[in-house]
Amino acid sequence: KPPKHISNEAVKTFSQKDTSDWDLLRASLSKFNNASLDIPLVINGKRFFYNEGGRESFQQTNPAKHSQVLANVTMATEKDVLSAIQASKQAKQNWLKLPFYDRAAVFLKAADLISTKYRYDMLAATMLGQGKNVFQAEIDCITELADFFRFNVKYASELYAQQPIESTPGVWNKAEYRPLEGFVYAVTPFNFTAIAGNLVGAPALMGNTVVWKPSQAACLSNYLLLTVLEEAGLPAGVINFIPGDAVQVTQKVLADREFGALHFTGSTSVFKQLYGAIQKGVATDVYRDYPRIVGETGGKNFHLVHASASMPHAVLSTLRGAFEFQGQKCSATSRLYIPQSKSTEFLQDLVGTVSTVNPVNTSASQINGGDLHGFFGPVIHEQSFDKLAKVIEDAKADSELEILYGGEVDKSSGWFITPTIIKTTNPLHKCMSTEFFGPILTVYEYPDEQFAEICTTIDETAAYGLTGSVFARDRDAILVADEKLKYSAGNFYINDKCTGAVVAQQWFGGARMSGTNDKAGSGNILTRFVSIRNVKETF
Ligand code: GLU
Repeated sequence: KPPKHISNEAVKTFSQKDTSDWDLLRASLSKFNNASLDIPLVINGKRFFYNEGGRESFQQTNPAKHSQVLANVTMATEKDVLSAIQASKQAKQNWLKLPFYDRAAVFLKAADLISTKYRYDMLAATMLGQGKNVFQAEIDCITELADFFRFNVKYASELYAQQPIESTPGVWNKAEYRPLEGFVYAVTPFNFTAIAGNLVGAPALMGNTVVWKPSQAACLSNYLLLTVLEEAGLPAGVINFIPGDAVQVTQKVLADREFGALHFTGSTSVFKQLYGAIQKGVATDVYRDYPRIVGETGGKNFHLVHASASMPHAVLSTLRGAFEFQGQKCSATSRLYIPQSKSTEFLQDLVGTVSTVNPVNTSASQINGGDLHGFFGPVIHEQSFDKLAKVIEDAKADSELEILYGGEVDKSSGWFITPTIIKTTNPLHKCMSTEFFGPILTVYEYPDEQFAEICTTIDETAAYGLTGSVFARDRDAILVADEKLKYSAGNFYINDKCTGAVVAQQWFGGARMSGTNDKAGSGNILTRFVSIRNVKETF
């Protein structure tokens, strides 16, 4: 039976009055600030460190203060990847036999540990490692993560209860939800600890075992998550944690006959490569099954404002959609379409508001007494900083573009890019179709009477179909946008920002080049990690 009373975990506000919350958080931040952690591989429950077995390491640094090493992370060798695959095959034998109740208990307990005992450590690891303020970290590594674990249990119970509805006298039909026959390969992103948790947690809950390649930029929080799962009772070998070189790890994994599924969140280009490599493997009989491919990738998400919209609301929503989390969300607002008649007012308000919000600095010097609520943080790493800096530099030299706000970059101590608003006179400019994955918003002013035409332009400009919003009071305008943008966004918002999907409330995932449309935070995704056997018995 589905557990009762599952509801979304509440976000702690960390107001100035919550002194005990602050004390606990500061203690956790100091712990990670004062010593860099050695992070091992975890294969079959055993720890393996760099400097043994010819393994190398890499450093995870604080993006707000790149001289600070948060963790020395062990890199998997080719041999380690093979051991992790082997461990997942072995652990499967017992894990799949464990009654669902017992598998579920691990994830329910982990969710409780995350929201209680380890809340402050999880927050600190995510804030320092991924450059988030306390509010963003709460939403990510506490509430969304706990929600994924708990709601997946509820959805799995409902799925198992779905049985063939017809039978004849003397016949019993039954559906059996087997885990996939092979192992699952989870490739997880830096931007959400919660997403990493769901990418490994959803398949494992259904009785699969997992080889987990975390993002190099999120190993601190991801390793902590693994230790929480272990404390919650996860048996050895069910999830094998192998940070390492993406290409090397992937090559070994995709060469294995028992590779059963890819569970991926990351860039579109990497996903396309993996998709192609898996299809090639199928065509050349590498695998026993057709591996399941579940991926969520990039977006070029839009806010479309109609002249009838509440402008202050659309301005604030755009500010949050584009610049919260430094725009490092697949769902982030990255192109804005405003009607010419409202444009001056809208842009003045947007620029005025952006210029009044404070930056956050999660570097060590700011922690004691520092304001961790500040709105803007760093981007994740040098590679990302360089890419975004180049976009800004190119924009400055482009006659079709005008920088309305921001455009400043500073890497002296951390990877800081000011929120940047760029206006274009060309709705087909590549800045309206290219994903930046950072705090850059591009804007086009459309003639008011061409609302339907601009919907078509939005639909046809980008290859993606992840998220998008329409802001309007006029119901006819909403209807036009709803119809014309049917496949432009897998998550479509009316009068709200296009970010911030909540588990079980807004099922998350796009289509087109944004992913396979298997919705995270819904029960649908769990169906991808089971292989159904139908049993008919006659009496
Ligand atoms: N689910 C998140 C949201 O709706 C985005 C996750 C992502 O960046 O992949 O904002």
